[in-house]
Amino acid sequence: MPRFFVTGQPEGGLLTLRGEDAHHAGRVLRLRPGEAVTLCDGAGTDYDCTVETVEKGAVTCWVQGSHPAETEPRQRLTLCMALPKGDKMDFIVQKAVELGVHAIIPYLSRNCVSRPDRTDKKVERWRKIALEAAKQCGRGCLPSVSMVVTAEEAMAKAAQSETALFFYEYERETGLRDVLQHGVGSTVSLVIGPEGGFTHEEAALAAQLGLKSVSLGTRILRCETAPVAALAAVLYAGGNM
Ligand code: SAM
Repeated sequence: MPRFFVTGQPEGGLLTLRGEDAHHAGRVLRLRPGEAVTLCDGAGTDYDCTVETVEKGAVTCWVQGSHPAETEPRQRLTLCMALPKGDKMDFIVQKAVELGVHAIIPYLSRNCVSRPDRTDKKVERWRKIALEAAKQCGRGCLPSVSMVVTAEEAMAKAAQSETALFFYEYERETGLRDVLQHGVGSTVSLVIGPEGGFTHEEAALAAQLGLKSVSLGTRILRCETAPVAALAAVLYAGGNM
């Protein structure tokens, strides 16, 4: 079933696709009046619709009914990801959205090799990747990608979650399972470091803020593997798989 994100509420029982979405629906998918399509408000509501009219630049859809999106995880997941080198963040954003993340907070930590002067264009690209991934996997919410913040800001934000996890490559005592077997909060933050890992000072700050230092096992995962593994484990523990 074709799926599109729309803004605004139905007006007179109609929702309208415009711009690229209208082009994709009308010219690429060649949707015709009467055909079924799902429109999503990006905030957890799905509209079951049928195409009403197809014009250049606008496709109107008649809303048959609406219901809560069935594709969101039970928990609200926030990924705080240290800026990796190259275009790895493109991959991380795409996989995190497929895995149900609600918010992505890119941050700069001491060992980040990539320290771009300007990050607004990168964030814009990551938001586009998030939108495409959300459409592809049928998300009910459009995940947010924030502007790049400092490690301190990211960890302070993460600490606001009921379950706040600091994935520390030098953690030897506490495995992820040790924490998740006691249950998963309704909000979960996952803090992942860059290729160069965390400094001891950053680990101390995380502990001071109340983040739980956890291990992903005895092997060192790449910074693009760690968030995928961590999110999958949290989803599983949270009863989403
Ligand atoms: N420079 C570090 C080293 O060589 O030990 C490796 C950092 S790793 C490439 C990038 C990030 O992935 C880490 O900062 C951590 O957040 C996460 N990570 C990777 N392996 C992990 C593990 N076994 N346990 C916990 N976190 C891990």
